[in-house]
Formats: sequence, structure tokens, C-alpha cells
Amino acid sequence: MVLEELTVRLNDREYTNWLKAGRCLLILKTGLHPFTDHRMRAHHRDLLNQHALLSTPCETSSCKPIGNKLSSPCGVCSEWQKVILRHHRQPGATINWANCFPPHWRTDHWEVAKAYMPRGQAKVRRADQCDAAALLNLINYCRCFWSVDPKLVRQVIQFRNELMHSCELRVKDDWIRHYWRTLKHFVQQLSDVPQMATVGQQIEDMLTVDLSICVSGVDRVDSAGPLEGCESDFVSQLETSAEKVSQWETELLQEMLQEYLHVAAEEDGDAKAQDPEQLKRLQSFLQANKDLRERFSTELQAINSLEVKERGDGSDKRSRHTLLDLLPCIWKAPHVLTYRLQHSDSGWYLQDLRNRQEKFGTLESLIDHYRRAPSPPVGMAPLTDPLDKTQIPNYFLQGTNQSHI
Ligand SMILES: [Zn+2]
Repeated sequence: MVLEELTVRLNDREYTNWLKAGRCLLILKTGLHPFTDHRMRAHHRDLLNQHALLSTPCETSSCKPIGNKLSSPCGVCSEWQKVILRHHRQPGATINWANCFPPHWRTDHWEVAKAYMPRGQAKVRRADQCDAAALLNLINYCRCFWSVDPKLVRQVIQFRNELMHSCELRVKDDWIRHYWRTLKHFVQQLSDVPQMATVGQQIEDMLTVDLSICVSGVDRVDSAGPLEGCESDFVSQLETSAEKVSQWETELLQEMLQEYLHVAAEEDGDAKAQDPEQLKRLQSFLQANKDLRERFSTELQAINSLEVKERGDGSDKRSRHTLLDLLPCIWKAPHVLTYRLQHSDSGWYLQDLRNRQEKFGTLESLIDHYRRAPSPPVGMAPLTDPLDKTQIPNYFLQGTNQSHI
């Protein structure tokens, strides 16, 4: 039964936290659509009024970026390019020209907006086709949003990234508390936007409702944990059905899958290696839940075909990929440490410590173990500290078989 499986998932508090937090991003997005669209439209109009040349059509009708660069554009597109750069809130930051079709800059305000967004927006035509990350980046980078504190926007973006790249699809109560506080401040900053009042309320409702109770059909607001004391009668007001919760879950998982598959399908080598671990975890998660396995059968097939493609790329690449798989989980760590890893029939271990240290079935469990270990083995830097070469015994640094993890 679909409902049974959903109920089991929603009894996992941290998974439910993850789901609610993700739902809040989708709610936020609905408020940001009209706001960003309206503001960009006005900005575009101002640009046309201030710079006569910008009202002239592209001289070639075919100026387009190659890769992420806009090389040798016509005079008009070149002027647009300069103006877009001039209105960037962080001069020097990368601009994703690949998102844009320059001949449309003159007539389409959203084509201009896309220059300030993360890559992957080339096919997007309107504000309501953008996800929260795209809109938040636009606000962060385009000067026409000068009234919004960029620090606050970046905090929301950071929470969003942590959530969407969460290895376990789970977040803790403490995380949710900070997230909620940040979202509240952000929504308050946009208090002059009519839709944001509703968004603020809906976010509060979402973070205070107990979804497991909604699914089992009993009206009760979550009274445990950090969300205690919220005065919301959301549950009694809104008939949240299992189908609705299931739909929220589908939308969120869909968005994650699209992001991962998009990144994985990109030709750029670095991009390809960015999220393989999350994609694998998501794949395992979907396969372990019968209802999700059926709902996302097409996406799971796409993941499988990507894996086959990877395997067909040769053994060297495959072993490199195994290590790159681990990167996302330590991506945000301030330092990258280098260890020599070995593999035997009984598992992975740190070379030179094999007689004294444990072996692990997976590299992940090895990393996890040493990261959590209260005191690292003698001669080995703890995984959370920077590597100081002078502190490492010479025999650790010899040889060429070092793996960067
Ligand atoms: Zn042009």
C-alpha cells in the first residue's frame, strides 16, 4: 500500500523535517515568481530607456554563447553584455552566459535575468519555470534587487543547498530551527511584496504541522520538540490528505532528480563528478520504497543508463569515479586531506595502518569512522583538521598511489 509506505517514511522525524523544509522552498518560490518577474521587467524597461543602443535589434540575429563564453558578439549584444556585467552585485563572479540567447535580450526581460542564475537555465522562458535556487541567485546577483540584503539571500541559498544535497534526505530539528529563522527574516525583508505575507504564513504552517498525523487522518498539531509552542491551527483549517503529502514528496524528489540528472548529463567533466554520490543515494532510496520505485521508474532507468555509460568509459575512469563519489559529502569541508587508501578482499583501510586499524566495506564508512573517531590513530591527522605536511611521517607521503578524498 502506498499509504503504508508513506506513513513509515513520515514516522521518521528527520525525513519529515527534510520533506517539510523542501516544501517550504516550493512555497517560497511561488512568492518569488511575481516579485522577481515584476522587478526584472521594470529593470529591463529602465535599461532600454537609459541606453539607446540596447533598443536596436541584434545585428546578426544569431549571437550565441559557445560553452559558457560569449565571444565576438555584435555591437548591440556586446553593449548588453557590458550592461549586464555593470549591474552585477558581485563584480568578478562567474556569469553563466550559456543560459542566455543574446538576440532576445532586447525584447525579453527574463532572458536578461537568466544571466544572473546558476547554469542550466537555457531552456527556461519565464519566471514561473524557475526553481527557488535560480530566483534566489538572481536576487543575490542582480543589482535591481539592491533592497534585499545579499547576506540573507546567501544564507537561504546555503540552507537550500544543504537540503537538496543532503546525503541522507534527512535534517535535524536544530537545522530546521535555524532554517525557519532565516526564512522568516528573508520573508520580512520582502514585506512590501503582497504575495509574501501569504508565503510567510504558509511556511510557518508547513513547519508546524505534523505530517504523520495528517496522513493517518487525525487532527493534531505536532507538540514535541523544537516546534513546540507554535500557535497554528493549520491542521484543522487545511484538510491535508495523504495524497497531498505524497504529491509534495513527489515534487521535491522530482526537483532533486532533475537537478542531479541535469548535472550528470552535462558534458563538462567537473560537473559530471559533482553529485554522483547523492544521485546514488537517491537511487537507493527510491528503490527501497516500492511506491517511489514505481512512481520514478523512468528516472531510475535514466540513472541506470548513466551508470552503464560510466562503466563503458574504461576502468581508469571508473576507479577515479569511485573516489569522486565521495567528494560531495566533504565538499563543504574547509580542507581537503590526502590519505593513501588500500583495498583488500576484506575491505578498505588506510595503508600503513592495516594491521592495527579496522577495514571497512565502503570508503564512505571508512571516512565516516575516522571523521567521528574521538582520537585519530597515531601519526594520522584527524579528518576534520587541515593536513600539515610537516606533521606527517615520511612513509605516509611516499609512493604514487595516493588517493585524494
Ligand atoms: Zn548580437
